Amino acid sequence: MNKEAVLKTVLQLDVLPTLSPVASRLITITAREDTTISDIAELVSKDISLSAKILKVVNSAFYSFPQSIVTIQQATSILGTNAVRSLVLSFSFLQPSRSDDGNFNYARFWQQSLTEAVAARRLMAAIDKDAAEEAFVAGLLQNLGVLILARAFPDQYRQVEQAIEEEGSNRCQAENDLIGADHAYIGSEVTRGWGFPDALVLPLRHHDEPAGYDGSDANIKRLCQVVYLSGLLSRVYRSKAPEAIVARFHDQAQQLLGLEERVLKDFLDTVHSEVNQTADYFEFSICEQKSIAEILQIANAELSVLNLSYEEMNRALVEKSVKLELLTAELEKKNRQLELLANIDGLTQAYNHRYFQNFLDQEINRSRRYSRSLALVLADIDHFKQLNDTFGHQVGDEMLRQFCEVCRNELREYDLFARYGGEEFALVLPETVIEEAEAVAEKLRLAIARHNFEHERQSSHITASFGVFAMMPAEEPYTKNEMISFADQAMFQAKKKGRNQVVVFSSKKKWFGR
Ligand code: GH3
Ligand code: MG
Ligand code: MG
Repeated sequence: MNKEAVLKTVLQLDVLPTLSPVASRLITITAREDTTISDIAELVSKDISLSAKILKVVNSAFYSFPQSIVTIQQATSILGTNAVRSLVLSFSFLQPSRSDDGNFNYARFWQQSLTEAVAARRLMAAIDKDAAEEAFVAGLLQNLGVLILARAFPDQYRQVEQAIEEEGSNRCQAENDLIGADHAYIGSEVTRGWGFPDALVLPLRHHDEPAGYDGSDANIKRLCQVVYLSGLLSRVYRSKAPEAIVARFHDQAQQLLGLEERVLKDFLDTVHSEVNQTADYFEFSICEQKSIAEILQIANAELSVLNLSYEEMNRALVEKSVKLELLTAELEKKNRQLELLANIDGLTQAYNHRYFQNFLDQEINRSRRYSRSLALVLADIDHFKQLNDTFGHQVGDEMLRQFCEVCRNELREYDLFARYGGEEFALVLPETVIEEAEAVAEKLRLAIARHNFEHERQSSHITASFGVFAMMPAEEPYTKNEMISFADQAMFQAKKKGRNQVVVFSSKKKWFGR
């Protein structure tokens, strides 16, 4: 689907949050030039509970006005119409939490959105207090498109989350790849449809990549940057490496907004308590937000627990008074080697069976997500038992080693070559269609048949038989075991037809060989 089609779909489905009647009417009247402050105050005052909430926020410590503000008329003339409109919009969205529908975790979504809203408001307040409430609502709604897409396309959106989680994909990129439109586009187009002004729509559109705003309005540009920074900050709460995110936030905030060190420090120290307080004002229930310092401490503590267990395991080395840093570096290296060893077959240095199984699982998933073809080739050395019987097992072992070397030299870096067991080998070829896989197998077959296998000053020739299978997991959802069985059946045919050949498995139950 292209992005316009995705937009059309979400607009037709019942997945959009609803705008309260007052918010909706307010957007309409504030867009008109002849609207006065009294018109706005009159409209908002009709909703008593909304007015009470607004007055509570306006009288909060965030504004610290010298005298208390008791009417919406007063609030509107002091804060301005944009700020009041933004407050009404914020209240319209931050309704008491809606329970999960199994597909979408609303509580987590709005907690993150609230953090982003508060961060955006605080950052904006540091440069222009009058624009603070607009920053709040833009921060709050920056990921509205996520909520909409996740509800409209629950299956695809799970894949988006998986791609982000497992492969570190960029969210917009993954959404575009897997759904056809990203949340920035959907969020901005939906709110544009509701009549939101450009000053709110454009920051939603460019919050992910503020440099993408190429207009000339300095206020909008600044709001895009502020909202982007608020999104970056909220990642501290989800990241496995929060320290790196805080450092990046720090850098970007200084670069984009020119905030002083002191202001940033104060911001990072207090933003969490403002989130908790704001949740109260909005009568919105959240899990108590931790401070940034606490998040960093927890991450550090987790890290030191890890180091401690390394240390304990290697007490003997420590006692030889190797410096701790050197030791850690050494241990890290050993760990990597161990991990590799666990995946490598000792005799041939090819990947082992276990690794092959995991790799194939992963590749089936990946190929399904990206609609790519995936090929599997099984190879079995011909008459290997005879060879063992003639020259002995040790020569047989040497042949297996050389066999693998010859094969590995023929393959691409991202193809997997593994020992399936005994004298059988498996090749997993990502993004490869059947004809290409057949050509790869044929290339290996020739290379093996031509190779002089040298042993104890003699040389022998050996051959192997190959079975090939390929599929598009998105269209032909065979299981891993079926896939292996199809390649195996083709290999068996190659043996039956006289060995030293490649046979492709055909789902039409026909056999093609060379
Ligand atoms: P075919 O052409 O039908 O595949 O005949 P084959 O003799 O290759 O097949 P078979 O399955 O009858 O025998 C496989 C032989 O491979 C038997 C076994 O001793 C040998 N083999 C398996 N693993 C190893 C190993 O690690 N080292 C050595 N030297 N031989 C092995
Ligand atoms: Mg065999
Ligand atoms: Mg064999």
